[in-house]
Amino acid sequence: MNTEAYRQILTRYWGFTSFKPLQEEIILSVAGGRDTLALMPTGGGKSITFQVPALHMEGICVVITPLIALMKDQVRRLNSLEIKAMAIHSGMSGEEIDIALDNCIYGDYKFLYISPERISTRLFQERVSRLNINLVAVDEAHCISQWGYDFRPSYLKIAALRQLIPDRIPFLALTATATPAVAGDIMEKLEFREKNILRTSFGRKNISYMVKRVEDKAAWLTNTLRNIGGSGIIYVRSRRRCKEIAEMLTANKFSADFYHAGLPQDIRDRKQSAWTAGSTRIIVATNAFGMGIDKAEVRFVIHWEMPDSIEEYFQESGRAGRDGKKAFAILLYSSSDRQQLESSLKKKFPPVGKIKDVYEALCNYLQIPVGSGKNTVFDFSIRDFVSKYRLPVIETFNSLSFLQREGYVEFTEEINNPSRVHFVVGRDDLYRFQVANEAFDDFIKLLLRSYTGMFTEFVAIDEDSLARRSGLSRDAVYRFLVKLSSLNIIRYIPGKKTALVIFTEERLERKALVISSDNYLDVKDKHVFRLNKMIDYAESATRCRSELLLDYFGEESDRCGICDVCRERNELDLSKYEFDIILDEVKKILTGNSYEAAELVSKVSLPPEKVIKVVRWLLDHNKIVRDDNNLLSWREPDLFSR
Ligand code: ADP
Ligand code: MG
Repeated sequence: MNTEAYRQILTRYWGFTSFKPLQEEIILSVAGGRDTLALMPTGGGKSITFQVPALHMEGICVVITPLIALMKDQVRRLNSLEIKAMAIHSGMSGEEIDIALDNCIYGDYKFLYISPERISTRLFQERVSRLNINLVAVDEAHCISQWGYDFRPSYLKIAALRQLIPDRIPFLALTATATPAVAGDIMEKLEFREKNILRTSFGRKNISYMVKRVEDKAAWLTNTLRNIGGSGIIYVRSRRRCKEIAEMLTANKFSADFYHAGLPQDIRDRKQSAWTAGSTRIIVATNAFGMGIDKAEVRFVIHWEMPDSIEEYFQESGRAGRDGKKAFAILLYSSSDRQQLESSLKKKFPPVGKIKDVYEALCNYLQIPVGSGKNTVFDFSIRDFVSKYRLPVIETFNSLSFLQREGYVEFTEEINNPSRVHFVVGRDDLYRFQVANEAFDDFIKLLLRSYTGMFTEFVAIDEDSLARRSGLSRDAVYRFLVKLSSLNIIRYIPGKKTALVIFTEERLERKALVISSDNYLDVKDKHVFRLNKMIDYAESATRCRSELLLDYFGEESDRCGICDVCRERNELDLSKYEFDIILDEVKKILTGNSYEAAELVSKVSLPPEKVIKVVRWLLDHNKIVRDDNNLLSWREPDLFSR
C-alpha cells in the first residue's frame, strides 16, 4: 500500500507532517476494504482516520455522529480547508434535506455528515443508492451499545445501511470509550464482516490520578488551588452548585467562571474562549463542558463528585495534560456522596407508571393524536413542557431519557439554527421580477451582494447584519424576507434556537406503550454495574489508579508510580511483587474470618515486618477494619442493590 499518498493528503490539507500513533494502520485497514473498529482516547486524532482515506478515494464518505453541534463544527472545519462537506440533521426542513442530498449526488461532495435518526427516513433511503459512497464512518460508536453509558437506539438502525449500499464498502467505527463488552457489541450491531479492532493504549503517563476523601471540599479546594499552578476544570454535577463554587472561588481571589447547558449559547462560547485563551484560569462546569475543547495545557481536572461511570470519568479527566506535561486528575469523595448517588439513582429510574404519564403528557403537549406522529420532528422546550404540565424536572427528564432508550422518541441537544434563504426562481426570472417590482430591487441586490450560493442551496443569513449593511431596521429586513417568500421568489426559514424531539414511532395508546420490565431492570442493572465500578475506583486504596482504569477498558498495564496509591506504596519500601503477595494472602485470610493482628501476621508466609507494614497500610486505607474486640476483617464495599 502506498502510505506516502495518505501522508501527502495529511500535509496538503491539514499541514501535519506525520501521523499520530495508529492513524496510519487504521487508514490502511479501511483502504483495504475492511470493517474496522478504532479505539483511541479523546484527542487521539480519530477524525483524520476517515477523512484522509475518503479524500484519497473517489466518492463520498458518510459520517454518522450523534450531536448536531459536533456535526456542524466538523463540516465548518472541513469547509475551511476547502473540502466539500455537508450536514443533514433533524434541524433541517424536508426541502432543505432534499436539496442538500441533490447537491451531494451531483456536486462532488466528499463528506456527508448525518444524524443517525435521519438514516431511516424515506427521503434518505431513496437517495442513498445514488450517492457514490466510499466509506461509512460511525463516530462515537459506543452509542450503539446498551452496555455503554450513552446508548442511542437510532444507532441500531445504522446497520440497515448495508442493505442499501454495495457490499464492499467498509464501515469504520470510532470511539474513545470502549470496554471489551462495548467493543464486541459495536462490531456485532454494525454487522462487521469479520472482527477487526485496532487500538492505541489509553494510558496517560503524565496524569497523576488521585482520590481525596475530604468532608470539607470547599476548604480543600481553595487550599489545593493555591498550591497547584496553571489552568484547570472543576466538574460538578449540578448547575446551581457550579455557580456557587465559582463564586466561592472568585470571592477567594481566584480567577474562575462557571459553565453549564442552561446558559445561552453566546455566553457559553464566551466563557469557553476566555478559559481557552487563559484569561479565566479555572472553569467550574457540568459535563456539558467538553465538546470542542482543544486546550493542551490543562494542569488539573478536579471532580467535585463522581460521574456515573468510569467511561465518563476517564473522558472528562483525560482533558488534563494533553500537552504531555505533568497534570492532575483528582476525584473528591466524601461520606455523603454515596447517599447522594443512591438518591440520584432513584430519580434516574422513575416507576414505569410515571414514565407512561410523561409520555402521554408529551403527546398531548405536542398535540399528537393516537396513531400518528411517526417520523415527525417537533421543537421542544423541556422547561415549557414541565411548567405547563406541572411535572417535576429531574424525574421528567429521566422519564424522557427512558422513552428515548426504548426507542419511542429521540431528543436532540439545543441547536442554534440560523435563518436560511434559498432562491426558488432562476436568475432570469429573478431579473424580470426585479424590473417589475422596483420596491424590492435594492433589497434583492443586498442579498445577492451579501451571500453566494443561494440559487443552488439554502444559505445561512443574518438579519441583523443585513439591517446594518442596508440601514433598514431589523424588522423591515424581516418583512422583506417574508414578503419575498410569500411571492414565491425565495424560501425563507427564520432562524431559531431550540431542542427537537423526533417521534420515531406513531403515538401509542397507553396500554400499548411497552416499557418491558426486563428491559427496564436490565438497563438499571447495567447502570448500577457502571456506577459500582466507579465507586470501587473511589474506594479502592490498594490498586494503582491508572491500572484500575485501564483494566476497566480491558488493557493490561503496570503500576503508574505517580497516582496517590502508588505514591503511598512507594513509601512502604516494598516491591510491588511483595506487596501484592502479602495483600492477596491477607485478603484470603480475612475474607469471611476475623483475627487479631498478631495472629493474622503469623498466618502469612512472609517476613512479619513486611506483613505488618502492609496490614497497617490497609488499616489506614480502610481496606480492613478493626472491630470493638480488636479483631481485623476485610471490608468489602457494600454495593448498591436493586
Ligand atoms: P478525537 O476525535 O480522537 O478526539 P480529533 O480527531 O478531534 O480527536 O483530533 C484531536 C486533535 O488532534 C485535533 O486538533 C487534530 O487536528 C489533531 N491531530 C489529528 N491528527 C494529527 C496529526 N497526525 N498530527 C498532528 N495533529 C493531529
Ligand atoms: Mg472525535
